[in-house]
Amino acid sequence: TPDVVTLGETMVLLRAPHIGPLRHARTLDVATGGAESNLAIGITRLGGRAAWIGRVGDDEFGRLVLTVLGGEGLDTRAAVVDPEAPTGLMVKARRTSAATDVRYYRAGSAGSRLCPDDVNPALVRSARILHITGITPALSPTARAAVRAAVAEANAAGVPVSLDLNYRRALWSAEDAAGELRALAGHADILFATEDEARLVLKVPDHTPFVDLARELAALGPAQVLLKRGARGAVAIVDGRPHEVPPHRVHAVDPVGAGDAFAAGYLAELVRGGSVATRLATAAAAGAFAVTVPGDWEGLPRRDELRLLAQDDAVIR
Ligand code: ATP
Repeated sequence: TPDVVTLGETMVLLRAPHIGPLRHARTLDVATGGAESNLAIGITRLGGRAAWIGRVGDDEFGRLVLTVLGGEGLDTRAAVVDPEAPTGLMVKARRTSAATDVRYYRAGSAGSRLCPDDVNPALVRSARILHITGITPALSPTARAAVRAAVAEANAAGVPVSLDLNYRRALWSAEDAAGELRALAGHADILFATEDEARLVLKVPDHTPFVDLARELAALGPAQVLLKRGARGAVAIVDGRPHEVPPHRVHAVDPVGAGDAFAAGYLAELVRGGSVATRLATAAAAGAFAVTVPGDWEGLPRRDELRLLAQDDAVIR
């Protein structure tokens, strides 16, 4: 039985290997990525079991996605190969060393055609945690219905729901997102958010202090709220008690994927019965690991690698 079941879209990622206008890139690196499968890979790297539900096209890119996810140890038996639509693409270019531009070619993709029938109720019921993100409901009306169906199944079965708000402005308006994400938060037990996402959902005065944002999120329902602030760490409210999550000092090369890694670290410890302190420590370590490596999930740590963060200039022989 899986520790974590998640559903979403995983795309092929085409990445310019050099800085500069994309039209002059002679080659592109081929990789894969998707917030939910990134999280699931993070769980398996830390010794847990994770199952992924989603659709890919009946094409080479779809086969690549399933090969990578299977190779990382995810249970993909519930994944659907959709003959009617292609696998979605994500294209990443760097115009300067600091400015990354991400474009999506996912409208009408196989992944966006996820629907309630794809959500195997028995699989959701068998999970220790159902993890969803705010990306999936933005993909299409059927994907939104699939997320709602999975959450309803989990709620009815007493399976805790973990929600990463993950607002994507390219996919829907702030107004649509705020309504749907707020409703989902009300059905979640564990909530991950950035400061911007918290403000989007809460509609609080602009200068509301950080820890108050976390408390307001907890007031929506989730007993565990993790409010992330990048290189400055995070704040957590767990069962009403606030916790400060200090960051690790690392050399960041690619900020993308830190949020998924942080959530994976937290949930991986939660399913093992880890204390709040352990959950937060592993979350912060996994988040720090993710930013030290280019790529959205490749740098996610195995359990025996977590201690590497504590070492300066380590040479391992
Ligand atoms: P993403 O870019 O994946 O969407 P996010 O915005 O959801 O990320 P962040 O707040 O950037 O999430 O990062 C999550 C956690 O990862 C942070 O709370 C922190 O613990 C860790 N982290 C992120 N960036 C850094 C960094 N530069 N140095 C150390 N730790 C970091």
